[in-house]
Amino acid sequence: MSKLKKLQETTRANVKPPPWEDVCPELETYRWRGHRRLAARTYFTKCTTCMWGCRMPVEIIIDNWNPRGKKKHRFETFCYGPRNCKFYKAGSNRKVEGRNGMVFTEEDWVDEQNVEHREPEE
Ligand code: SF4
Repeated sequence: MSKLKKLQETTRANVKPPPWEDVCPELETYRWRGHRRLAARTYFTKCTTCMWGCRMPVEIIIDNWNPRGKKKHRFETFCYGPRNCKFYKAGSNRKVEGRNGMVFTEEDWVDEQNVEHREPEE
């Protein structure tokens, strides 16, 4: 016989977000919302319980002229949450290795473009 016991019903954990602690929506919702980069330190100190925060692996194609060639992977942290969240910190711009030792910097406009269709509190 299992010793598992239900201790209590859970409800939304934090009624005064941020962070938004609720059941995660469908993936389509995340796709529609778009994301901004999120400082890793902010993610680990404030956002791990937020349904809009995530840390996920990204693929880096070193040579865009040869997309089946050398690839690298690394973890990055993102925020899909409201643009006016008081916890949000972008952190430094991300740098990506390219062919022949080049380094590309992802500029702020990339993040701005990803979320510009949403109102600040949305
Ligand atoms: S910064 Fe983003 S992930 Fe962190 S609490 Fe705010 S909305 Fe959630």
